Amino acid sequence: MSKALYFSEKDIQKRVTEVAHSINRYYADTCQEVVVIGVLNGSFMLVADLVRNLYGTLIIDFVKVSSYKKGIVSNKNPRMQVGVSVPIKDKLVLIVEDIVDTGHTLQKVIKHIKRKHPARINVFTLLNKTSRREVEVLINWVGFDIPNDFVVGYGMDYAGKFRNLGHIRPLLKFRGEAPMKVEQKSSHPFVAGRAPD
Ligand code: 5GP
Ligand code: MG
Repeated sequence: MSKALYFSEKDIQKRVTEVAHSINRYYADTCQEVVVIGVLNGSFMLVADLVRNLYGTLIIDFVKVSSYKKGIVSNKNPRMQVGVSVPIKDKLVLIVEDIVDTGHTLQKVIKHIKRKHPARINVFTLLNKTSRREVEVLINWVGFDIPNDFVVGYGMDYAGKFRNLGHIRPLLKFRGEAPMKVEQKSSHPFVAGRAPD
């Protein structure tokens, strides 16, 4: 297993805290509240960890996009399923994503938010697969750049599973073919015992 695709809970907490400090510095000069908008479902853990390290008055909201997908195949035309539910006109908006892959999902979210005329949009993604990018998207903070593999854990799923893992691990090598079966030694392969590093 490649080291660059496995991130322990400790790695993640350390990096999220570092990025939070950088975000705090960025917004330090403003006395405006920041609207943090997480992209569901994958960003739920990240938003929870991030906002506990952010200063100032925050409004927290979520949007939901029907992006993923048939298994691990990217959807080039994702749909907004749930839009922003708080006022964002003239506000500072911080979008929080779990992972940017082709960029279509983030592009859709940014378009949706722009239509509501916020003062500014900034983006934090925990993971970034630059080699897979199909559309240019705004990203201001990246947790980790990763190679082209499919990862699960820390909010990210495969077929709805594995979101509860505190760490991030690759599910399989992506080779453009049908997903390989995850090796399972027990019925709870990732819950019992530690993931290999
Ligand atoms: P994009 O539209 O950029 O291709 O994909 C963005 C969305 O697809 C992400 O928000 C995430 O939900 C999902 N995604 C992309 N890559 C991965 C991955 O490696 N693992 C998981 N679990 N989800 C991914
Ligand atoms: Mg996502």
